[in-house]
Amino acid sequence: MRPLQNLPKAHLHLHSWQATLRRATVAEWLLECDEERLHQMTSAAQQKLADIRQKQDEGVQETRPGEFQSDIDKYERRIKALTPPLSLDLLLGQALLADDLAPVSLRGGSGPESEIWDRQFFLDVLMKTAPESRGGTSGYERQACLQLVEDAASEGICWIETAFKAFQFLDDEPQRIEEKCAGQWRDALASRREAMEAFPGVGLAFVVPCPKGKFQVDQARAILDFFTTEGERGALAGIGKWGRETPGLEDELGPALSFFKEQGVPIVMLHAGEGYGATGQKLPFEAYNGASHVEEAVAAGALRIGHGIEAARSQATMDLLRERQVCLEVCLYSNWLLDMAPWEDGVSHPLPVLLASGVPCCLAADDPTLMGAGNGHGLVREYEGARKVLKLTDQQLADLARCSIQFSCMPSVSKERALAGIDKWLTEEAP
Ligand SMILES: [Zn+2]
Repeated sequence: MRPLQNLPKAHLHLHSWQATLRRATVAEWLLECDEERLHQMTSAAQQKLADIRQKQDEGVQETRPGEFQSDIDKYERRIKALTPPLSLDLLLGQALLADDLAPVSLRGGSGPESEIWDRQFFLDVLMKTAPESRGGTSGYERQACLQLVEDAASEGICWIETAFKAFQFLDDEPQRIEEKCAGQWRDALASRREAMEAFPGVGLAFVVPCPKGKFQVDQARAILDFFTTEGERGALAGIGKWGRETPGLEDELGPALSFFKEQGVPIVMLHAGEGYGATGQKLPFEAYNGASHVEEAVAAGALRIGHGIEAARSQATMDLLRERQVCLEVCLYSNWLLDMAPWEDGVSHPLPVLLASGVPCCLAADDPTLMGAGNGHGLVREYEGARKVLKLTDQQLADLARCSIQFSCMPSVSKERALAGIDKWLTEEAP
């Protein structure tokens, strides 16, 4: 079998930095947690717990039945997990290697009471309470960025497009970026430059969530101006959307998305058609038509759609993706662990159906640290899963890698080099 870490590929769907950390780095950070820091980490949860208990005692009306008890359970669970001795397995679940079978899903899928949200909470407080001696949160983020690119370099990844935080704007001047947020972005840009200098074979660029609301076009212009003024236009890979999936994309983000397209900024990582679970409690099951969400994303001009696997339920939607050449960023382990697949008919994942219909697809890892991956990108495990669980051939794996290169914003000379590397990988005799 041809080694998958030698296959040149791009990674086009990640959420940095919390979800793109090395497992060993999280373990190292846990060792730095003294009693005082643990108190800091749990204090917000303790306060929330006390507030809910008080509401319960006062007989305050719940917004949904069982709301208070499930919140109490959640905060008690989180406080308990942060009570020494700390355990990496308890906080992040066990490390998960690719196997011949798809893994069982995590408790609660992707809902608000889910295991995945607990893990996200742990990493969030761990990074927010980073000690000053380590440069605080931005010191941790710099380490995360450097290690992500280092691990990419050692496993054949030549390009990364990763989602980073939403720009925040001043309340009284909605077209002006908050200074604190601009500072966090400048730190991220500096880490990116440092990582690319240290590992010149890997490029990294960021995907920014699309601004919404009344001032979205002004804010879109401010975001673009920010990158240009910093001399970092090349660090902006594209504009995306994530969070809970709801219909009405054009009404919500249409003007800002149009502005970005006119300015030549591609629409990527536009999460749509991930599965009913991705709608949380906002949308009733009967109202969810994932394939139609995918079609909305195509109509909005997306170059790439985040997940989009529900398209496989509709031949017309798959035909549309093929004709318009819109690429799906398929995240196998995320779909399995968050209970988006298998489907009701027992198919372990719809990727083979999408490929058979000629839909452009690439593989990605979404939130690898939250999903048991050993390093910050988790991409080789996705290819291994496609090979072992879905029985894809090396030709199909090479096609997925090819798509990842073609649908990225890599400079064209690097694209050509990577595509030639894929051809070479495929022509080499499998050991
Ligand atoms: Zn995602």
